[in-house]
Amino acid sequence: MEHRKHAAKSHSHPVRERAVVVGGGVSGLLAAKELQAAGFQVSLYEAAATLGGCFSSHEVAGVVLDGGAESFATRSTAVADLAQELGLAANIVTPNPAGAWVWLPDGPVPLPRTGVLGIPSDLNAPEVRAALGASGVLRAALDAKMPATIGTTEAVSSVADLVRARMGKRVLERLVAPVVGGVHSADPELLDVDMVAPGLRAGIREHGSLAAAVAAQRAGGSKPGSAVGGLVGGMHTLVTALVKALVAAGVELHTSHRIKAIYRGEELAAGKHDGATSLPWQLDWEHGTERGVATAQVLVVATDGPTAVTLLGAELPQLRPFAPATGPDIRLVTLVVDVPELDSAPRGTGILVAPGVPGIKAKALTHATSKWAWLADSTGPGTHVLRLSYGRAGVKASDAVRLSAATPTEEDLVPTALADASTLLGLEITEADLLGSDIVRWRGALPFAAVGHQAKMAQVQALASEVPGLALTGGWLSGNGLAAVVAGTQRTMKALIESSAKV
Ligand SMILES: Cc1cc2nc3c(=O)[nH]c(=O)nc-3n(C[C@H](O)[C@H](O)[C@H](O)COP(=O)(O)OP(=O)(O)OC[C@H]3O[C@@H](n4cnc5c(N)ncnc54)[C@H](O)[C@@H]3O)c2cc1C
Repeated sequence: MEHRKHAAKSHSHPVRERAVVVGGGVSGLLAAKELQAAGFQVSLYEAAATLGGCFSSHEVAGVVLDGGAESFATRSTAVADLAQELGLAANIVTPNPAGAWVWLPDGPVPLPRTGVLGIPSDLNAPEVRAALGASGVLRAALDAKMPATIGTTEAVSSVADLVRARMGKRVLERLVAPVVGGVHSADPELLDVDMVAPGLRAGIREHGSLAAAVAAQRAGGSKPGSAVGGLVGGMHTLVTALVKALVAAGVELHTSHRIKAIYRGEELAAGKHDGATSLPWQLDWEHGTERGVATAQVLVVATDGPTAVTLLGAELPQLRPFAPATGPDIRLVTLVVDVPELDSAPRGTGILVAPGVPGIKAKALTHATSKWAWLADSTGPGTHVLRLSYGRAGVKASDAVRLSAATPTEEDLVPTALADASTLLGLEITEADLLGSDIVRWRGALPFAAVGHQAKMAQVQALASEVPGLALTGGWLSGNGLAAVVAGTQRTMKALIESSAKV
C-alpha cells in the first residue's frame, strides 16, 4: 500500500520549508501531522508496506483484528484528545469490567482491578487478599505507615526495588511481575519505574503512600475506574484516521521506502552556509530496486532506537553510546475458535502468567471477545478470539520462553498456543475448534527501559536539540505505549517547531 499526495494548499508558516519524517509508526505519523499543521511541506518515509508500526491490523478467519497494540492507557487524556481530533471520540470504549486473572505458581486468581502495573490501591479488595494471603496483605499495609521518602529519593529505581521497599516481596512476585511481564515483556528487577509508571514516585510524595499514589493515578484518567481504553473496530482504526487526515492535508506518505543513510547536504562540508538551518538534510532511500535521495530542512527520526542511532551515526556520533538494546523477540499467536463454552468468559478478559510457572509457555492470554464487546458483537456467540503472547526480555534464562533453537517455531507455536489456552481457560481447545490462526512476530518493537533509561533518554534529547532542524521521537524515548508516545511526540514537535520559527 502506498499513499502519495502532493501538497497544494496554503499554509500559515511564512516559509514553506520541507520536513522529512523517518518512520511511519504512530510517533512518525503524529510528527508529520504536527509539522504539516505548522506549515511545513512534509514527506514521510516508512520501510514497511503499511503504516502504523506496532498499531497494525491483520485478518484472521475473516475478522479484522489488531496485529500489535490493542488498547491505550487512560492515565492521561492524550489519546482521547487525539481520537477526538480525528473524529473517533464516539468510538472510545472501555473493556469489560470483569477484569483479568493472574496465574500464580499455585494456580489462577483474579487480578486486582484497581492497580497500576499490578500494584494494588485497595488492600482490602477480596482479589488482593486472595492473591497475597493475610501475611502478604499485612506487609503491604506497612506502605501506608512508612515515610513518603522511601522509594522516592533522587536515586533511580527499578519497579521491583520500589514495590519491594514499600509493599513487600509478595506484591512484587504475585501481582507486579506477571503484569509487567505481560505488558512490558520485562523483568521488574530491571525496569525503570519512572519510564513505565511516570508520576508514580511523585505521587507517593504527594499522597503519602504507594497505594494512595496508585489510587490517584487510577482516578486521574479520562475514564475513571478503567486503566485502559480501546476503539470500536480496533486500535488500528486510529492509524487509518490519522493517515486519512495526513493525505487530505497533503502530506506525502512513502511506504516500502527504507531510509538507508542520513547526512547533511554538500554545502555543509563545503562551508558554503553559515546559517545551519538552511543546510539541507539528505536521506538515501531504497524502494525495491529503486534508489533516491530526499532533501529537507527539518528532519524527524521516528524509528526504533537502534535504527535512529545508526542512521544518525555520521552526523551525530555522540549518540552512539546511548544506543538502546534491541527489544525482546515477541510473538503474538491469535486463535479464532468455535468454542461456545467460552461465552461464559472463564478468565474474564484474560490471564497473565507469573514468571516461572511450570508447563505454561505463554506470558499472557487475552480473551479479546470477552474484553471488547464490539468484537464479540462482530463474531457472534460461540466464536472467540484468543491472543497469546510469547517472549520476555531481561528474565532469567530459566524463566524465559526460549525463542531460539529449542523454541517453538512459527509452525509449532499454534499447537503450543492451543495447549496453553486449554490450561489457562480450563477447557480443552483443539485444532478441530480452530477457525483460523495467525502469528505476528515483533522483533525489537518493545524497547526495554532498564533502570536509568529515562535519564539517558533525556541526554539523547538534549544532544538532538543542539542540532538545528533535528528531532527524535518514538517509544524508545518517551516510553512504551500510545499514551506516552502521543504525549512525547507532541512535546518534541512543539519544541522543534518553536526552535525552527526562531531561526
Ligand atoms: C506486540 C506489542 C503490543 C503492544 N500493545 C500495546 C497496547 O496494547 N497499548 C499501547 O499503548 N501500546 C502497546 N504497545 C506499544 C506501542 O505499540 C508502542 O509503544 C508504539 O506503537 C511505538 O510507536 P513508534 O511510532 O515509536 O514505533 P513503531 O510503531 O515501532 O514505528 C517505528 C516505525 O519505523 C519504521 N522504520 C524503522 N526503520 C526504518 C527505516 N530505516 N526507514 C523507514 N522506516 C523505518 C518501522 O518500520 C516502524 O513502522 C505494544 C507493542 C508491541 C510490540
